[in-house]
Amino acid sequence: MTAGSGSPVIPIPLGHVNAFLIRGTRPVVVDTGFPGSAPKILSVLQKEGYRPWDLGLIIITHAHLDHTGSAAALAGATGAPVLVHTAEADYLAAGTSAPVVPASLTGRFLRLMIGKHAPAPDLGVQAVIRINAPYRIDAFGINGAILPTPGHTKGSLSVSLATGEVIAGDLVTGLFPPLRARLPIFAEDAAEVKASIRVLLATAPATIYAGHGGPFPGSDVEALLQ
Ligand SMILES: [Zn+2]
Ligand SMILES: [Zn+2]
Repeated sequence: MTAGSGSPVIPIPLGHVNAFLIRGTRPVVVDTGFPGSAPKILSVLQKEGYRPWDLGLIIITHAHLDHTGSAAALAGATGAPVLVHTAEADYLAAGTSAPVVPASLTGRFLRLMIGKHAPAPDLGVQAVIRINAPYRIDAFGINGAILPTPGHTKGSLSVSLATGEVIAGDLVTGLFPPLRARLPIFAEDAAEVKASIRVLLATAPATIYAGHGGPFPGSDVEALLQ
């Protein structure tokens, strides 16, 4: 289930959330964890033989604090530009989160526990690159593309690689036991979730990485559509 040695994807577990390093001529980081995660991400970058200023791009799959919390710190430490969907750029800049909309009873319960978090300007960062259409990342020596995959939030993005790997953010999740793939607990646009999963499955991925739990075989995610 985990990727073979040929995989450019290096998962970076950050407590309950995963960030990822994608190896390339200039590596790319996908998501940044909660505030305080930048040192761990930088240490993985170094372990993989890169210097901080080698980082080519910071991709934010969506503007929830568990994914954006260290974007400003990481951008500051590396000089790398931040990329986000146009629909999420204002949340990212303000240091706040896109709406957290429960998609299930579990979600409603968790939403009460999480509550709202106030804008935190020190966590905010201006995205240099804002996209609302597929975006190739070959310029970084990575054969792949960033794809809009709305559902969990309106501006959610996924990364699809020619190696048959996908990083899906919170479009699929394995946060809670038994940790197998499930549909998101929160969905700002529930009708879009399955359509976006189909977009990813159309690339026939063998492995789907998620922001929480995972990775999952593509077939497990396909089963969610039944
Ligand atoms: Zn999220
Ligand atoms: Zn998340």
